Amino acid sequence: MIKNLIKGNRLFKKYEFPNFQKDMEESIKHGQKPEILFIGCSDSRVTPDLFLNTKPGDMFILRNVGNFVPKYKHDEDFHGSAAAIEYAVSVLKIKDIIVCGHSHCGACESLYQELPDTEDLVHIKTWLKLGEKAKSDTLKEKKFTTQSEMYRETEKNSIKHQLENLLSYPGVLKAIKNNELTLHGWHYSIEDAGISYYNKEKDKFCPLEELQI
Ligand SMILES: [Zn+2]
Repeated sequence: MIKNLIKGNRLFKKYEFPNFQKDMEESIKHGQKPEILFIGCSDSRVTPDLFLNTKPGDMFILRNVGNFVPKYKHDEDFHGSAAAIEYAVSVLKIKDIIVCGHSHCGACESLYQELPDTEDLVHIKTWLKLGEKAKSDTLKEKKFTTQSEMYRETEKNSIKHQLENLLSYPGVLKAIKNNELTLHGWHYSIEDAGISYYNKEKDKFCPLEELQI
């Protein structure tokens, strides 16, 4: 696999990078100016720059297990996701945050399984607590005929919950109040690359093409 990466980088440098070289030189001089913070899952099948056809410099990207957003909580621990959110909002002044979940998300499915109590899983066990509200909201609905439907709903409820958690960040709240920032919840389908977005008025996910900007 590493061999493929070496070859891939050689091909990218030769055929693709020349398209971006000028933009990169500009951004080195003046700094990066992305307008989007994309929060997605670390899942290897979730490839935002590919499925959104974006180029270097377009999006500041935070990926973690389950595209979870921990609530704002300042202490001396190392909060990588919180640091990325703060940097994007307060330093880069991004205009939109997209929390993008996806179908067949292992993090959401694992909320329904018992993970063993072993020292090599302690961080993931704690991290998955960020999905607990999505699970309890889903179980309240009791309308599913298949497990797959329940998992899709969990993924979508989680996106809504992570958007709520974003509001606990003072910088996020301030930028929203000043009309400088908009939050979006998207769900990406790994089987067909389709995206649905969370429509707050209808309280449901609708095709992204219908999003009025
Ligand atoms: Zn995932």
